[in-house]
Amino acid sequence: MERVDVAVIGAGIVGLSAAWRLARTGLDVVVLERFSLGHDRGSSHGPTRIFRFAYDDPVYVRLAQAALPLWRELEDASARALLRITGGFDVGDPMYLRACSAALRSCGATAEELTPGARRERFPWFESDDESIFSPNTGVIAANDALAAIAEVARVAGARIDEEVQSARVDVRGADRIEIVAGKREVSARRCVVAAGAWAATVLEPLGIRLPIRVTREQVFYFRAPHEIVPFIHRDRIARYGIPGDWGAPGVKVAEHGTGPQTEPDARSFDVDEPGFARVQGYVQTTLPTFDPSPIASETCLYSTTPDDGFVIDQVGPVVVASACSGHGFKFGPLVGELVASIVTGGEPAVPIKPFALRRFA
Ligand SMILES: Cc1cc2nc3c(=O)[nH]c(=O)nc-3n(C[C@H](O)[C@H](O)[C@H](O)COP(=O)(O)OP(=O)(O)OC[C@H]3O[C@@H](n4cnc5c(N)ncnc54)[C@H](O)[C@@H]3O)c2cc1C
Repeated sequence: MERVDVAVIGAGIVGLSAAWRLARTGLDVVVLERFSLGHDRGSSHGPTRIFRFAYDDPVYVRLAQAALPLWRELEDASARALLRITGGFDVGDPMYLRACSAALRSCGATAEELTPGARRERFPWFESDDESIFSPNTGVIAANDALAAIAEVARVAGARIDEEVQSARVDVRGADRIEIVAGKREVSARRCVVAAGAWAATVLEPLGIRLPIRVTREQVFYFRAPHEIVPFIHRDRIARYGIPGDWGAPGVKVAEHGTGPQTEPDARSFDVDEPGFARVQGYVQTTLPTFDPSPIASETCLYSTTPDDGFVIDQVGPVVVASACSGHGFKFGPLVGELVASIVTGGEPAVPIKPFALRRFA
């Protein structure tokens, strides 16, 4: 039986970030990942993700503000550029925009209201009569590169990351002991961090921990555009977003948020949902008329969405649940890792974690 301080189940952005921040404290950490690092079956793969402060809830504005310096720390530690701040705009639902402006201002962040005319002057490629707000702190994360960078700095900090090792059974043996059977391995740990993304509910259920997540298969498309863009989120009947073709992306990413079919993570298909594609293409033709509406690439990915679109970062005995998705968790990865480390070490969390308690769903 291998003995460690902390076993982390899952090597997506959340599990790797937890391993990095835990190993930095001197704890003996092992990560068990059922596939290979950077695989395309979960939620963290792909060239790009949006980073933003612009949320309608001050809890998430502050979370993003606290995440930014950790992204810079990761860039320094890995000697890689991973986050480009470009500015970006939210457009559409006036109620959301007002709440977003108020939340940003209440956290000392900037929000600039843009009339449709003012937005057309600055971003002539975006065609809509909706109001918008511009946030200078929005940017683009190099997602695939970030996964590789965090794995690297976690290993340098002493964490072991084992791939192709599926943790089949997790047994709580006491307040301070948990045993994990992973393939032919048996690991005994004082704490187990479950960062299993779309599979988290399945890993936690035998422990009597109910994590209410709905797993959906989402799809994104990459388009040719004859000019630069900035990230945008268009909140309408269906929310859509666009991300510049940075960090090796084959083109500008355009996609719907959270409209994918429900699925079982192990039974999910990789096929494009044609009606969903037709909607995105129609959107590109009307709202992004300078783009070539024939996509050059597409990708599918899993969302695990909680009933309130919020995260779960909480402890139940020796188990720490780190489920940060609902389609917007990547930007917070390193900070969620830091919060997990503070839970395990009993340290003061960088931001209050009460809003992420599991019992809010009880
Ligand atoms: C299409 C799409 C677009 C997105 N856009 C954005 C964005 O612009 N900005 C943003 O901030 N967020 C965005 N997100 C959300 C973000 O990507 C996710 O919140 C984040 O990747 C979740 O990471 P995770 O580590 O929890 O999950 P994952 O990356 O899925 O990691 C979980 C890992 O656990 C492993 N695992 C599961 N079960 C076991 C087991 N039993 N044993 C061992 N290993 C196991 C899995 O193989 C997997 O590698 C987007 C998500 C998608 C799908």
